[in-house]
Amino acid sequence: MNSSNKASISSVITELVGHLSQLPGIGPKTAERLAFHIIKTPESKITSLSQSLMKAKQQLTFCKNCFIVTENDPCSICSNEFRDHKTLCIVHNSIDAYAIENTNTYSGSYHILNGSISPINGIGPNELTISQLLMRINNNLPNEIIIATNPTIEGDATSTYIINQIKNDEVKITRLAIGIPIGGDLDYTDNKTLTQAFNSRQPIR
Ligand SMILES: [Zn+2]
Repeated sequence: MNSSNKASISSVITELVGHLSQLPGIGPKTAERLAFHIIKTPESKITSLSQSLMKAKQQLTFCKNCFIVTENDPCSICSNEFRDHKTLCIVHNSIDAYAIENTNTYSGSYHILNGSISPINGIGPNELTISQLLMRINNNLPNEIIIATNPTIEGDATSTYIINQIKNDEVKITRLAIGIPIGGDLDYTDNKTLTQAFNSRQPIR
């Protein structure tokens, strides 16, 4: 018998918290909150959640050409003959590509890096799909490569690395503009964004 009066937490909870805290962006406190939320949730909902997790794992894969998460390989973008396969947009993750798709403004193809260069987290170029990107560029030289990495230290490092690796001068390389968000306020715009917005101003007449 335990000599202390203190109740010890169930090993089932500890295990659940352990698994949840391995998810990106989930710290130990959030993992604990999620674990107790799961315990309170009706069993039918948890069954649906676990089935959905298994379905995602079993039915989704990465396109071998562009590395987007897809049900079919090659994906519906790579296999679509009506899309412009001479324009290549480089993004960190599939979710970024789907965000661009939702704008209905882009009809080219994508290359998903599956992350960003981050020496602090031990992620170098070899952990991303950069060699596959360079191979794609060599095999089918695009007219334009659009760098759509995040405007962060990691995103900039990734972008600089990729640009330096593209040796062919014939290909046009562009980067998404950085500026004031729609509905934003100059007052609340940080110095760096405002500077970038100024530098990338567009003529209107
Ligand atoms: Zn694809």
